[in-house]
Parts: sequence; structure tokens; C-alpha cells
Amino acid sequence: MKDFYLQVELNPGFKGMTESRQQQDIVIFIAPPGAGKGSISQKCIKELGWEQLSTGNLCRKNIEKGSELGQKIDFAIKSGRLVSDDLIVAMVREWFHENPDRDRTVILDGFPRTVPQAMAFKAMLTAEFPLTRVRVVQLKVSDEELIRRLTSRLTCSNKDCQQVYSLLESSGMIPKVDLECDICKSKLTQRSDDNITTVRDRLSNYYRHEEDLLNYYSSVGWSIIQVNVESSLDKVFDQFKSKLDV
Ligand code: AMP
Repeated sequence: MKDFYLQVELNPGFKGMTESRQQQDIVIFIAPPGAGKGSISQKCIKELGWEQLSTGNLCRKNIEKGSELGQKIDFAIKSGRLVSDDLIVAMVREWFHENPDRDRTVILDGFPRTVPQAMAFKAMLTAEFPLTRVRVVQLKVSDEELIRRLTSRLTCSNKDCQQVYSLLESSGMIPKVDLECDICKSKLTQRSDDNITTVRDRLSNYYRHEEDLLNYYSSVGWSIIQVNVESSLDKVFDQFKSKLDV
């Protein structure tokens, strides 16, 4: 990074790159599991050309690798707990360094989930990616609706796809063919943590951290934009775009 900024200062030909870096945007979702952050992110990627960093997906990819790290993560996820801050922050930092092209808006899906994660992330941005604007999008939805959604949710079993579907009519996300992914035709399965007991644990874990996170974001001056997600995905997405002015 230091070399890059040195080149920018010495070579006026880098002006365009400097400008694009100044326009770098990060969007953080603060949302309980099942609120639809994954589906909204997918629409941002397809329709707005944004890119996504989902720590849930990073965790599942590590589990898939079967490494020692993957086994620790697997144990935490199956028991409905959060993975430790150290492991998550290390995975996020690695992702940012492996994906250095920062021209597109990056959506953080499921991260930061705790104040120590948020503080570590803010420190990383300040030190290593200083030209960023962070906006926080808070998705609002009732617990009853969340439980209904999560226990009706199906996910594509192909790790490179992971498209999310719902068996609820109102969602507008029913697969065209039963238990088959519309995109890659792989089998749809229920995630091991989308059962009623684990869902209740995940929600109480989430609320424990939500208020502290909102207070932290306000304290560092990141704007918080609220989006009500108790309607169909298309309507939610329209509201999302208009509130973010994109
Ligand atoms: P998600 O796909 O975002 O619902 O995440 C699934 C599971 O991965 C969570 O229930 C946690 O166990 C773990 N996980 C994902 N992101 C984080 C995070 N930022 N901090 C801690 N654990 C996480």
C-alpha cells in the first residue's frame, strides 16, 4: 500500500486511480439472520455491479477445506455460536488483501457482528485503506417473521453458488423446480443452522450485539440508514436504492 501512495504522489498519471480510490464505498449491513441481507446483496451484485464479502460464506468455505481452522468454525456454527473475533477479523483482512481492486462498492454481509470486530475493522481501514466511505444499512423486521423465514429457507448446495430460496409464497424467492437451484441446477438443502432451536440462539446472540454496534457506528460518524424489510424482495430493494441514492 505504501508503495502505491508513493507512486500516486510522484506520478500525476495516477490521478484517475486516486479519484477512483476516493470514491471507494463500503456498505455494512446490520441485520438479524433471515432479514434478507444475502438476497439484497445478490441484487446489488447483479443489478448495481457491487461486490460482496460474506463472513458466513468465508466460514463455510473454510469448513469445506476441512482444515483445523475449518473444524473450529464448524463447531461454533453448528452450536449456534459466533465464531471468535480473532478468527473472523483475520479472515476479513485476508480477503481485503487478496482482493485489492477497490473500485467497486463492497458490501459486508454479516460483519462486523461485535464491537471488537468493528473496532478492528475501523483500525484496519484507517491504517491500510484510508480513502473509504462507510455506510451502515440497518434492516428492520419482527422476530416472528424472521423465524418463519429462516425455517422456510433453502440454500443451493453448490459452494460456488449458494443462492438462497424460500418456500414462502410472499417472498418471491420460490425455486422454479422443487429443491433445484434455478441458476446452477444443484440440489437445494436446508442449512444445518436453519432449525428452530439454533435460530432462537442466533437471534439472541444477534440482539446482544446490535445496540452496542449501532452506538459504536454513531460514535465514529458512520451514517446509519434504516430499511424496513417486511415486504417482497423487489419492494425492499427499491426502498434500499432510494435511501442509499444509488
Ligand atoms: P451467516 O451466514 O452470516 O448467517 O453466518 C453463519 C454463521 O457463521 C453464524 O451463525 C456464525 O456462527 C458464523 N459467522 C459469520 N459471520 C460471523 C462474524 N462476523 N462473527 C462471528 N461469527 C460469524
